[in-house]
Amino acid sequence: MNEKSKEWAIPMAVLKTNASKIDALKTRRSWRLSNVMMGIIGACSVALVSCGGGGESSESGDLPTVVTTTTILTDLTEEVAGEEVEVSGILKPGDDPHVYEPVPQDTVTLEGADLIIYNGYNLEPALIRMIEASGVEAKVPVAEAVPPLQMDYDGQQEPDPHVWGNVKNAIAMVEKIRDVLSEEFPEDAAVFQANAERAIAVLEKLDIWVAEQIATIPENQRKLVTTHDAFQYYAQAYELPVLGTLIGISTEEQPSAQTVKRLADLIRNAKVPSIFAETTINPALITTVAEEAGVELAPNELYADAIGEPGSRGDSYVNMIIANTETVVMALGGEFTPFNPDN
Ligand SMILES: [Zn+2]
Repeated sequence: MNEKSKEWAIPMAVLKTNASKIDALKTRRSWRLSNVMMGIIGACSVALVSCGGGGESSESGDLPTVVTTTTILTDLTEEVAGEEVEVSGILKPGDDPHVYEPVPQDTVTLEGADLIIYNGYNLEPALIRMIEASGVEAKVPVAEAVPPLQMDYDGQQEPDPHVWGNVKNAIAMVEKIRDVLSEEFPEDAAVFQANAERAIAVLEKLDIWVAEQIATIPENQRKLVTTHDAFQYYAQAYELPVLGTLIGISTEEQPSAQTVKRLADLIRNAKVPSIFAETTINPALITTVAEEAGVELAPNELYADAIGEPGSRGDSYVNMIIANTETVVMALGGEFTPFNPDN
């Protein structure tokens, strides 16, 4: 994490808070689907100026503070928490949780939390060490509410942390978030329950929709090749087998020239139409693999472990799943029908 992104950490939190307030004015709070977000940001800027506030005013408010680690968790938690708590995410859009190096401010943020919500299964190792060492008692690894896929790496079994790839698991995470918020802040339990119900209704439709989209890919082209091994839950849930990846479930390792060649051979032999880069990883090596294998690199990158910047195709959990599904379906020869949560 560089200093520049820390600079907009507070304004972003304010934007999100105001976005929630504006949303609340509507009769029905709904997930921020693409483009809707742009309008909200515009409205927020006006709101910020007119209230003359800034980061300070929102931080000195009386709302309890929930600190979340990854951008995916921040988004899911905001959906459930609504206006009742201040949600403060440590990672920003595009940050890679595997290799994130905490900055001193993160200690301050964590220690100020009434509740810490993190992924677990070692997704964000440096932050998990800080969380475990923190004085905050209420800390919950919500992805660990989902039974993990066990991955074998060099003879060692490790739980795969990327559980959100299966939308049913995201529903389980929303339920867990609802439960821990209700336990910590019981006076607002009814609100968390209602918000979670609304979020789950969207996610249930999304889950069915993803399966329908992937099913349009011709059977012999249903083979996924990505940079790091982040799509096993998605692959298993929606029947799109992972043929191979350049690196394992963490992004720390550097693949050898031999690994690159082996993967390129595998892709060529299996006649995979297209392979995928990821938004949080330098695309240089996967581009080399595509060139060596003589296949296309899909025109859009996949959102693996982080949602995208506000206004981008993947700027919420729901939007990242939609964007990934569109990218995969188009690149592997399927037929894409846009997601409509009102259907
Ligand atoms: Zn990952």
